[in-house]
Amino acid sequence: MYDAPVTSDHVLDLFRRVGALLDGHFRLTSGLHSGSYLQCALVLQHPREAEACGAAIAQRAFHLGAQVVLSPALGGIVIGQEVGRGLGVRAMFAERQDGKLTLRRGFRLEPGEKVLVVEDVITTGGSTRETIEVARAAGAEVVGAASIIDRSGGLAAQQSLDVPYMALATLSVPTYEPQTCPLCAAGQPVVKPGSRT
Ligand SMILES: [Zn+2]
Repeated sequence: MYDAPVTSDHVLDLFRRVGALLDGHFRLTSGLHSGSYLQCALVLQHPREAEACGAAIAQRAFHLGAQVVLSPALGGIVIGQEVGRGLGVRAMFAERQDGKLTLRRGFRLEPGEKVLVVEDVITTGGSTRETIEVARAAGAEVVGAASIIDRSGGLAAQQSLDVPYMALATLSVPTYEPQTCPLCAAGQPVVKPGSRT
């Protein structure tokens, strides 16, 4: 049995080890600049690490009594599957159709079914919130939400979620407009990393 990475430091060490968390000067997809780059997929490409993160979330969420895990595609699919494995419940995902998150592929939630919403990273809480709405629209009961990383320093959950939320690690990552970026001002070259940063 794999030892679950249960401390925040352990999780962040893991991210740094595989290059999923970099320090430097980055231009994010939003156009904003940041001193850190986070790409969960680089951790989740390693099945044993993905499983360990899923097991750690499952351990913390076990008391919520979820009967199914629901994740937003694409970022939430791998970790959602692993949390489902850890809880011993099924895992499904919602995906965008005409811009709107929807259950497809015959996925069904039963009225009153207890749902845990799982994502890789929460930045603003927007897609977790939208996934919660998908579950509620199907008549299910959302008992909580979880992610590997909370990149909002705890703000996203406070400001946009109305269910219990947990993350394995919390980061507070400032972002800057290019015109006022201190890293630009210091003359440090800016790098555009992979998508979804
Ligand atoms: Zn900059």
